[in-house]
Amino acid sequence: MTPEFNLIQKFFTPKQTQADLGIGDDAALIRVTEGHQLAISVDMLVAGTHFLHDCSPYLIGWKSLAVNISDMAAMGAQPKWATLSLALPEINEAWLAEFSRGFFACADAYKVDLIGGDTTRGPLTVNVTIMGETPHGKALKRSGAHIGDEIWVSGPLGEAALALAAMQGRVKLTEKELDTCRQALEQPQPRVALGLKLRDIATSAIDISDGLLADLGHILETSGVGADIHFNLIPRSEIVGHHLHENQMQVENQVQTMILAGGDDYELGFTAPANRHDEISSLSEQLALPLACIGTITSGRNLLVRDANEAILNINETGYDHFA
Ligand code: ADP
Ligand code: MG
Repeated sequence: MTPEFNLIQKFFTPKQTQADLGIGDDAALIRVTEGHQLAISVDMLVAGTHFLHDCSPYLIGWKSLAVNISDMAAMGAQPKWATLSLALPEINEAWLAEFSRGFFACADAYKVDLIGGDTTRGPLTVNVTIMGETPHGKALKRSGAHIGDEIWVSGPLGEAALALAAMQGRVKLTEKELDTCRQALEQPQPRVALGLKLRDIATSAIDISDGLLADLGHILETSGVGADIHFNLIPRSEIVGHHLHENQMQVENQVQTMILAGGDDYELGFTAPANRHDEISSLSEQLALPLACIGTITSGRNLLVRDANEAILNINETGYDHFA
């Protein structure tokens, strides 16, 4: 595809930009706030792997940016700029108009500037690079968890995985339940406000994109610690809780796996010293976002999940593997 400048002008030129130079030149120019570090992350979404081919372009647009913003949230960074690289099988203006509408809805909601990108012919792929800022030395890394820290999780987990299971016919949901769960799957709300507040509180953080066990596992590995968590303390929505207690062993196991290992939640998992407990509880009220303390960091190197009777659950699902 030759540079389709008209296309870019039509669909990807933001109304305004805080960048010194935005789309239209050979490179964009941005200015990083003094005393801050630039946080950079990239996430690629491929049709058939990360979204279904018939997924609405509006939602692909929203989600492709939202998952990147979520990485900024997990770093305690303020997301500011993004670039967008698109591989398109054909030029379908109706598709592009909807994609662009979804992308900018998310960009506007989180005050992110689109400052450049690339457009080429190829199998439908959306690649976003996000850039944000964090005061020098304040970023929330995966490696900072200490023995004795409490482990926290935001929001309810499992709805996105439940939606996917219902769409694939593995679980039956009412239309209303499916609508709610699809919202979690297709239009995740990255926890930026929480990430910013955690800069001075948390010792480590990660966004839960591949499932709680897998992502908490990354914190444990990089921090060189273990964890002891309680299944019943993990926040779940009413719908997920309802299906967990359906009295059908097969469904119960599936839903348990969704809470522990379902992907696409885009909530934050983080650790903090126990003496910050009350502060985090009031943060939860302030942000109107459930924050649950689900366990503690231990000196062992493994991740134990206990049931209501303190018995250790036998866990074998560790998360969604894109190559599986
Ligand atoms: P170049 O030949 O320098 O790569 P392009 O024609 O690819 O230039 O891009 C022209 C301008 O449009 C650049 O500023 C580029 O960053 C921007 N751009 C191209 N594709 C996209 C896109 N999908 N989204 C946003 N900006 C884009
Ligand atoms: Mg180019």
